[in-house]
Amino acid sequence: MLKIYSLKSTPRAGYAVRELGRLLGCAAMLTTDAGQMCHLTIGPEGPTGALTSGPSTILFTTEVQPIIIEWSRWDDLPVIFPTSAKTDLPFDLLGALFFFLSRHEEYTSYERDNHGRFPAHLCTMVQEGLEEMPLLDLWTNKLRTLLKHRFPDLTIEKPRFELVPTFDIDSAFAYTNKGPVRTIGGFARDFFKLDFKNACNRWAVLRGKKPDPYNIYEWLEGKLETAGVARLYFFLLADFGSFDKNVPHRSPELRSLIRHLAKKNRVGIHPGYLSSENDDIMHSEVKRLTDIIGHPACISRQHYLRMDLPETYESLIKCGITEDYTMGFADRPGFRAGTSRPFGFFNLKTNEARSLIVVPFVCMDATLRFYMCLSPEEASEKLRKMRHTLEKAGGRMVLLWHNESLSEHGPWAGWRKVFESAVD
Ligand SMILES: [Zn+2]
Repeated sequence: MLKIYSLKSTPRAGYAVRELGRLLGCAAMLTTDAGQMCHLTIGPEGPTGALTSGPSTILFTTEVQPIIIEWSRWDDLPVIFPTSAKTDLPFDLLGALFFFLSRHEEYTSYERDNHGRFPAHLCTMVQEGLEEMPLLDLWTNKLRTLLKHRFPDLTIEKPRFELVPTFDIDSAFAYTNKGPVRTIGGFARDFFKLDFKNACNRWAVLRGKKPDPYNIYEWLEGKLETAGVARLYFFLLADFGSFDKNVPHRSPELRSLIRHLAKKNRVGIHPGYLSSENDDIMHSEVKRLTDIIGHPACISRQHYLRMDLPETYESLIKCGITEDYTMGFADRPGFRAGTSRPFGFFNLKTNEARSLIVVPFVCMDATLRFYMCLSPEEASEKLRKMRHTLEKAGGRMVLLWHNESLSEHGPWAGWRKVFESAVD
């Protein structure tokens, strides 16, 4: 058990200590008893023998005001909240963890992008060009080395690299199982756009002469099963709308696909475009999945990564969700919360640690293809570099992919190999 000393105990300090333990891979507790043996202190004063870190301001307030971030160095690593005090760690480590994990900067910036999302360019990490470094993982790895040196009996193993492919199923099938109205609408759209090739494809698939291009599940399951890689699927079950275009949630083929995949994998909800604005919508979509799989749905990722803090996470908690996978950028790869590892959600409005676990992802297929306009070769190279970084750091590489990008269909022709090169 890692013991951390602080002059005062607050909800923020308690949360930061628990999350430091989680990132390090061990249990950690906060104590205000200066007579106890401790491993680390918050601030320059504390029990003899403990490593000292910089004094904290952010952990001992309840305010949520914009903070001007000052960057400094801890040997080779960039850090925030530097201190001039003589401490073993030249910055407020626990405060810095709290700043990034609580997503403090998302509460104090009101600018949003055209889908109502927090824009990446407002992140201090992005402004410094550091978003592709799992900075918190690197800090905790360095701390682990210092702790082992100072306390040889303390056993804290470095976490091992883990690859976790996850799939958002926005459109389970390209042409089939959409119902007569949308099928006729699809043909009408093809003719209106003079896209006769697509109309012919659609016709061939509907007559059973060709497989549906988005139906890649058997291939994907076989591939990942052979590689021994666990995977997660998130299904969009929203009512049809401008941004929600899955086959109807009542479709027997969709329901059977979900049940089939749920036999061997974790299956979650992909709450639709409007779910982050309306609790009732969120609730009904989670219930749809629960009814299909026959047990409570507990994992989730927001469609279009639309979320607002803390409201969306609080809605998910109300719906019984225990893990959310939305934490990441739409327009670039990287670590939105500074870590590749899961962490607990802290509600800054109520100033309390909550039960939801936030699982960050590192990169989305559409980011590489549409936002960054990379070629498949460039995308593979980008993923190779990120994998190398995470292997070194003992991080977790959560990928956000879609069945569409594995289809070799339309804009995704030539992209299956990008995924294959990332997981092989
Ligand atoms: Zn989606």
